[in-house]
Amino acid sequence: MDYKAANKIQDLQYFGEFGGVNPSISDSSTYTFLSAKTMFDTFEGNTEGCYLYSRHSSPSNLYLGEAMAALEGTETANVYASGMGAISAVIFQLCDAGDHILSSRTIYGGTYAFMKNFLRKFDINTSFVDITNLKAVKDSIGPKTKMIYCEAVSNPLLEVADIEALSRLAIKHGIPLVVDNTFSPLSISAARLGADIVVHSLTKFINGSSDCVAGAVCASKEFCLQLKDVNDGAGMLLGSTLDSLRAASILKNMRTLHIRMKKHSSNALYLAQRFEEDGLRVVYPGLESHPGHEVMKRQMVTEYGFGGLMTIDVGSIDMANALMELMQKENLGYLAVSLGFYKTLFSAPGSSTSSEIPEEEQKEMGLSEGLIRFSIGLDNDIEQTYKGMRRCMEELGVLKPQIA
Ligand SMILES: *Cc1c(COP(=O)(O)O)cnc(C)c1O
Repeated sequence: MDYKAANKIQDLQYFGEFGGVNPSISDSSTYTFLSAKTMFDTFEGNTEGCYLYSRHSSPSNLYLGEAMAALEGTETANVYASGMGAISAVIFQLCDAGDHILSSRTIYGGTYAFMKNFLRKFDINTSFVDITNLKAVKDSIGPKTKMIYCEAVSNPLLEVADIEALSRLAIKHGIPLVVDNTFSPLSISAARLGADIVVHSLTKFINGSSDCVAGAVCASKEFCLQLKDVNDGAGMLLGSTLDSLRAASILKNMRTLHIRMKKHSSNALYLAQRFEEDGLRVVYPGLESHPGHEVMKRQMVTEYGFGGLMTIDVGSIDMANALMELMQKENLGYLAVSLGFYKTLFSAPGSSTSSEIPEEEQKEMGLSEGLIRFSIGLDNDIEQTYKGMRRCMEELGVLKPQIA
């Protein structure tokens, strides 16, 4: 992969109004025009270089959008008030009533609930398939299918989508491939691999400080402008607009994304390897035992590693809960949903972030109730963390005490 996303983000240069090293934050909801004619043209869709109203766009949001476009290597990007704000806008822009979506069955619980329950109101139906089974994907595409939707590395089971192969299928059927790349920024360049539209929850690794929610759509100029259209743009009309102050703070955090991703990944790889050696059922794309390991190796930008997420199955929900409570007590991380924080976060997806998925279906996709999802933090001494987690596991009988 020759595209150097981190360099492209760093190369962006915006000075503040008074020569500040950070761009000025746009503190206005509306903007003046020098002539009435320009205002008219802007409403007609000729918005190039003009600010109209901050739900449409604002300088701070455009700066963050450009950084997101640099990250994915797309023509441009729009930012939104949340990941779900970005995802719902894309889906509503692409689908009319009666249309069909082909989606991976292992996706973020909120996206799953949106497709499965909410879109029913609009008679938009979704088939959920095993995205690693290309034949199943192909067989489920029909005349009304408007997109293939998947996550590059899926939540919470860490399945790895073969983006190049899915892109070939999408091209063959003349439909866009939409990829949620929230779990693998920098490590997977989804658009470079063939995704037409890349969505992100900036809430996670990209912002990395668990202090806000935000989202982005990285795509062609044409599609991003469609989303902003004052007459029929889903982004403009659904109104999940990111606040300028937040856009500015996320942009500042994004500048350390490359350093953070490397640390999240190397820490996660260390723990995954150690716990697998200990005989635990560990799922991590960096392990040879992972079914998507080869696809991940082929697609990834090596220096960023296999990502910061791993799961361990400890057998039962009671054991999972006890272990998470104990690890939190020992200050090894927090019992919390979400990911990408400096501190390790853990949760049991079956009863939290994936609880939108009915139990039967959870079983079918291999989501067992004893599964703990870890977002591994930026721990400076990961060996120490490993020892601490091991002690918790020994205390609860998940692991047998080591014979010295
Ligand atoms: C968190 C998350 C979302 C939703 O993002 P919000 O910012 O919470 O709206 C979507 N996809 C994935 C993979 C996520 O982890």
